[in-house]
Amino acid sequence: MIHYKVTSLDVWGHGSHECSISYDCPCMIKGDEGEHEEHDENVCDCHYDVNDWYAIGTITIDEETSDAGILAALIEAGFVREGITMAQVAFDDPSCDGWNIRIEEANTGRPVFDLQRVGEDHDHV
Ligand SMILES: [Zn+2]
Ligand SMILES: [Zn+2]
Repeated sequence: MIHYKVTSLDVWGHGSHECSISYDCPCMIKGDEGEHEEHDENVCDCHYDVNDWYAIGTITIDEETSDAGILAALIEAGFVREGITMAQVAFDDPSCDGWNIRIEEANTGRPVFDLQRVGEDHDHV
C-alpha cells in the first residue's frame, strides 16, 4: 500500500479561458469599436499561481491503483465531492513515477491538490 499526503491548493490568477480586458491581459485585443475582444493564444501569459497550501490528510492506495482509483480514494476520504468524475479532473505526474501527482480541474487547468508519496508498506491482505 502507498501512502500519499494530500495537500489542498489555494490559487491566484486565472487560466487562459478566463482572459478578459478587465484583467488587463496582454493576450486580449481591444478593437476599434471598443467591444471586440479576442484572446490570442500566442501572447497569452496567464496561468494559475499557487498562493497557499495546506495538508488535509493522507490517503492509502494499492500500488496498482489507477488514476480513477486515486480519485475514488479522495472521494472516500471526503476530500473530493461525491459525484466528481474522471472527466472533470486531470492528473499531472511530471516525473511519471507516482511520487508527486498534481490534480487539476480538467476544464480550467486550475490546480486543486498535490499528492506526495510519503511512505509505503507491504502488508498485503
Ligand atoms: Zn489572462
Ligand atoms: Zn490569455
